[in-house]
Amino acid sequence: MQTAIEVVEGIKSGAISCEELLSKIYDRIEKSDLNCYITLNKENALETARDVDKRREEADFKRKKLLGVPIAIKDAISTKGIQTTCASKILTGYVPPYDAAVIEALKREGAIIIGKTNMDEFCMGTSTETSYYGPTKNPHDLTRVPGGSSGGSTAAVSVGEAVLALGSDTGGSIRCPASFCGVVGLKTTYGFVSRYGLIAYANSLEQIGPIASSVTDTALLLEVISTKDERDSTQIKIKNDAPTNYCWSWRNGTTRSVSEDIIKGMRIGVPKEFIEGASPAVKKSVWNAVRKFEDLGASYEEISMRNLKYALASYYLIAMSEASSNLARFDGLRYGLRTGKDEDWHTTFSRIRGEGFGEEVKRRIILGTYALSAGYYGKYYLKALKVRTLIKREFEEALKTHDILAMPTMPFVAFELGERIKDPLSLYLADVNTVPINLAGVPSISVPCGTSNGLPIGLQLVGKHFEEDGILKAAYGYEQNGC
Ligand code: GLN
Repeated sequence: MQTAIEVVEGIKSGAISCEELLSKIYDRIEKSDLNCYITLNKENALETARDVDKRREEADFKRKKLLGVPIAIKDAISTKGIQTTCASKILTGYVPPYDAAVIEALKREGAIIIGKTNMDEFCMGTSTETSYYGPTKNPHDLTRVPGGSSGGSTAAVSVGEAVLALGSDTGGSIRCPASFCGVVGLKTTYGFVSRYGLIAYANSLEQIGPIASSVTDTALLLEVISTKDERDSTQIKIKNDAPTNYCWSWRNGTTRSVSEDIIKGMRIGVPKEFIEGASPAVKKSVWNAVRKFEDLGASYEEISMRNLKYALASYYLIAMSEASSNLARFDGLRYGLRTGKDEDWHTTFSRIRGEGFGEEVKRRIILGTYALSAGYYGKYYLKALKVRTLIKREFEEALKTHDILAMPTMPFVAFELGERIKDPLSLYLADVNTVPINLAGVPSISVPCGTSNGLPIGLQLVGKHFEEDGILKAAYGYEQNGC
C-alpha cells in the first residue's frame, strides 16, 4: 500500500487514479474477515474520487494536502450524513447533522472518507471487543484482538483497508491498537486538536489523533487536523489560522540528516516503573530501541516516577465519573434508539438505556455515578484529581531534564480474543503504560519496534506539552534508522 504522501503526489501528477485506488480498497474491505468497519461511505466516496480525478489539475485542488487520500474515521467522530454509532446499540441509526471540526479540516484538504471504523462501545475498552457490532480481529493473527478502543482504525491501516485513519485516545485508545497492529499512532497534547464533534467519553482526558503506516504520514495528518477552532473552548489559542507544518521531511525532501541531527544530543529518560512489568520480549525490543537511539547520538538514563503506581486507579475513577455524566444525554429522546411505547419519563429512560447500552458501559456509568455521589465525592473523585496533579508534576519534572521519555506502549503483545473480556480488571490493568500520559496531558507516539512470534511491539515516546514536533522527529529518526 502506498503512503499518503505517495498517494497525494500520484494523484496530483496523474500517475494514480483516485477512483481505482478507492475501488481497490473497497474490494479489500468487502473480502476482509477483520470487521474493521461499521458503516461504509462507498457511493459518496467514489463520486468524490471521480471528481478529484477530473479536477486534479485545478489550482485549488493542487494545493490540497490530502488530495484524494482515502481515510477511515473512528465511529466516535461525528460525520455529517454518515451514521455515527460509537459502536453502541443506543446510537444505531443516528446520522449527525454536522461534521466534527477534524472532518471539516480533512474535507478542506481533499481527504475522502471511506467509512466509520469499529471500536469499543463509547471508547470504553482496550480490545475492540465491547462493540455492539462484534469484535475486530488482529490482522497479524485472526485469533487475537487488535487492541482498542480504536481497533478498527489501526487494523484497517495495517492491511491497506485505509491509507490513513483517525482515532481518539482517552487512556491509550490510539496507542494501544497501534502497538498491537504494528502501525504508528499519536496522542496529541490535551487541548491541541479540536474535540468539537467527538462524542465525549471522558472529556478531560481525550484527544483525537492520527493513525498511519509511517511517521511522516502521521505528521502530515496532524498538520491537517490541528487547525484552530473556536467551538472547542479547551483548545489552546493557536496564534494564527494556519496549522503548524509538522510534515517537515516532505517539504525538505525525506532526508536522513533531519533525523540524525535531531537525535544527536537528545536526552532520553527511561522510567523503570514503565518497564518493570513488561514481558521479556517487550523489554528486549524496547531496550534495543533505546540502544539504537544511543547509536544515533542520544544519551539515556534510567529514572524513577514514584507516583505512577496510582495512575490506573486515578484514571479509572476520573474516566468513569466523567462518563457517567457525559452519557446522561443518551435518553432515547434526542438520539438513536427508541423502542417500545412511551410511558412516564423514568420508565422510558431506564428501558431504553437498559436495552441500548452494553455491559461495560453500564458498569462504568454505575461506578462513575457512585464515585460522584454525595458522601463519596471527596473520598474518590477528589482524591483521584489530586493524584492526577502529582502525576502531571512528575512528568513535568522528568521532562525538564530529558527531551523525551521512552517506554513500552503496552506491556505485552496482542492477547487472544475472549481472553480478558470476562475479567474487566485484567483489561484495565493492560492500560498501565498509556493512562498516565492522558492524566498528565502530554503528547505521546507509539511506533513499531519489533515483533514477538510475528506479533508487533510498540515503543512509546513521550514529550513535553505541545512539543509534538520533538516526538515526531525522534520517532521518524528511529523509523528511518532503527526498526
Ligand atoms: N482502555 C481505556 C479505557 O477503557 C482507554 C480507552 C480510550 O483511550 N478510549 O478507558
